Amino acid sequence: MSIHAHPALPEFEYLRPATLAEASEFLAGHPEEARPFLGGTDVFVRMRDGFSNPRYLVDVKCLSGMDTFRFDPHEGLTLGAAVSMNRTAASPEVMAHYPLLAEACRSVASYQLRTRATVAGNICNASPAGDTIGACLAYDGVLQIHGVDGFCQQSLAGFFLGPGKTKLRPGDVVTGVRLPPPPKDAAGVYLKLGRNRQGDLSIVGVSVLGYTDPAAPSGYRFRITLASVAPVPLVAGEAEAYLSANQVTAEAICKAADLAAAACSPIDDVRGSALYRREMARNLTRKGLEQVWHSLNGA
Ligand SMILES: Cc1cc2nc3c(=O)[nH]c(=O)nc-3n(C[C@H](O)[C@H](O)[C@H](O)COP(=O)(O)OP(=O)(O)OC[C@H]3O[C@@H](n4cnc5c(N)ncnc54)[C@H](O)[C@@H]3O)c2cc1C
Repeated sequence: MSIHAHPALPEFEYLRPATLAEASEFLAGHPEEARPFLGGTDVFVRMRDGFSNPRYLVDVKCLSGMDTFRFDPHEGLTLGAAVSMNRTAASPEVMAHYPLLAEACRSVASYQLRTRATVAGNICNASPAGDTIGACLAYDGVLQIHGVDGFCQQSLAGFFLGPGKTKLRPGDVVTGVRLPPPPKDAAGVYLKLGRNRQGDLSIVGVSVLGYTDPAAPSGYRFRITLASVAPVPLVAGEAEAYLSANQVTAEAICKAADLAAAACSPIDDVRGSALYRREMARNLTRKGLEQVWHSLNGA
């Protein structure tokens, strides 16, 4: 008896449109049958495993602007959709100004996979476990999208509707991710708990970004985002608000971690139980906040 761990990749037609207009028009005309792809590290695996069976795969990575990589102190970072995670993580500008994003990219799978995988693909895949999504949310990322009516922008806040579901409409092609200039003197950390040290999806992932803000009653603002603890990547808004309103002490950090854990609605799956996830969300949020707090205060 032969055992096939995975069904074979089904047949499909490979299309490489010459322009964004052509890509959007084709995708809009075949909403059920066509999918865009970049690195293909989600698309091909889902097809091989029988979870999706598109008739057309539309290769969008060579289209105009997809390879853009630009940092400007006033405009921030523009990351073309086809820029790989390795290129992102190795960029001196990203390491200097968006280190949380570099760290999140480096936490994904293996070096080999990251030569193909993109941040934009991670976002469009809309898995609650997507490792780079939390950093992009923390930096207030905005998607640049080309659709049948031309270009538009979409804030990442509110973009995710459920596992694999986003606000993208048929014909929409994400062309890049824009991160505004980072807050001055920010410190960030990404804590990822997987079943092994590297190469696994997260059981829980916590991104924390902190910076001084004289306008906040506490003098500080924190962004706290969590992976794999809700149907969508989670922004722990109540925990964030608590730390900007109250003096940042060890007790306040514990309280914020409790608020983050309370905001989670995790599930049981092969990686961990809901109970374990909630407790680890609490522990990792506290640990992340403590680390960022120490970095901000030079400890
Ligand atoms: C072995 C393995 C390990 C992995 N480990 C991790 C991990 O540790 N952490 C993690 O977060 N992920 C992991 N992944 C998942 C995957 O690698 C990431 O989600 C990756 O970022 C996807 O990027 P991509 O460019 O390959 O996307 P693709 O596979 O090309 O596309 C992903 C999704 O986005 C859509 N899409 C692609 N391009 C566009 C576009 N321009 N506009 C609109 N929609 C678009 C596609 O239709 C598809 O639904 C792993 C995958 C594998 C195979």
